[in-house]
Amino acid sequence: MRELLLVRYGEIFLKGLNRPVFMRALVKRIKYAVKELGGNVWLNDGRIFVSDFTDTDEAVRKVTKVFGVHSVCPAVEMDKDDFDAICDKAIQMCEGLKGTFKVTARRSDKRYPLDSPAIGKEMGHRILQANNNLTVDVKDPQHVMNVEIRDKCYLYVKVVPAVGGMPVGTNGRATLLLSGGIDSPVAGWMIAKRGVHISAVHFHSYPYTSDRAKEKVLDLARILSESCCGIRVHIVPFTKIQMEIHEKCPEEYTTLIMRRFMMRIAERVAKLENAEALITGESIGQVASQTMTALNTTNMVVEMPVFRPVIGFDKSEIIEVARKIGTLETSSLPYEDCCTVFTPRHPATHPKMDKILEGESKLDMEALIDEAVAGIELMTV
Ligand code: ATP
Ligand code: MG
Repeated sequence: MRELLLVRYGEIFLKGLNRPVFMRALVKRIKYAVKELGGNVWLNDGRIFVSDFTDTDEAVRKVTKVFGVHSVCPAVEMDKDDFDAICDKAIQMCEGLKGTFKVTARRSDKRYPLDSPAIGKEMGHRILQANNNLTVDVKDPQHVMNVEIRDKCYLYVKVVPAVGGMPVGTNGRATLLLSGGIDSPVAGWMIAKRGVHISAVHFHSYPYTSDRAKEKVLDLARILSESCCGIRVHIVPFTKIQMEIHEKCPEEYTTLIMRRFMMRIAERVAKLENAEALITGESIGQVASQTMTALNTTNMVVEMPVFRPVIGFDKSEIIEVARKIGTLETSSLPYEDCCTVFTPRHPATHPKMDKILEGESKLDMEALIDEAVAGIELMTV
């Protein structure tokens, strides 16, 4: 007898020709997630199993975070020949349960001496005799004791819901502009949930932004990485660009010109990462650089599509998702961001293109971008 996890995946994605690709990707992602726990992950008969982990609760926690996993059932695997021993184990697993229950039996081994209804009936009877706090309800039970007879017998009663979505890597790659704020980690999470493999770019203006601010961003990437199974974070040295903009461009345009630099550099990184799109945490009207006109002026410097999954969310709605995915606390730490360091007093909300271009003409843009890209520090979390 041994403990293992039975992993359920979102079924609608399993139809048709994509099924094997999806399954292989999901197994790979789960392997990555449980690597440190020494877990063994394998596929058998259309089911994914995880075994040999050192800590069950931690294994469940990690696997339920992997995109593509619908739910996780902590199960026991037993020899199927000794039906009495199987029932005794089922009774033990139902100890402490109260309310209504039923037994659901499945038998893929059709040579097994008892058929599914007979297994359900006999096991249900024995559980009832052993536990006075349970009554049978076959229509809408509070607890389901699952028995699966395959090459072995599997028993499970607990079903832990997981994040859902699709395994990362089954839907291409995108590069996330990751600040230390609340919005961009949420944006990255939402796109990665759809099966997109994400890499991240962070603009760091040392010494105006501290090492702790950088650590905070890496911590955010680590939280996302639990679902995304590894994120390459590109830390871009941004101080020189910000200083040049600050010195040479009209004050009310500094933020927008800076954001146009960010987009251009992020697109360069995305190309190096074989990514096909950029992701930002922008939301219409949230700040001056996110009015429609401002968004258009930053959008037009790149050719790649820019995904902004929180574009129509209120701040409170973004915060709700951040809380759910576990990034809110880290995002709320008070370290400075490069956007806040050189904030103009009156940023342009209806920017004029000729003013932006005039400001940019004072800068050696290509050289500045090349230098920033050459100075990138790359870390995998
Ligand atoms: P967030 O809460 O994600 O920081 P925000 O509301 O503070 O967003 P802005 O500062 O205008 O908004 O930034 C808009 C978007 O630009 C962010 O969501 C993020 O995608 C990107 N961005 C801003 N600052 C940085 C940075 N230092 N490094 C990387 N991307 C950034
Ligand atoms: Mg920000």
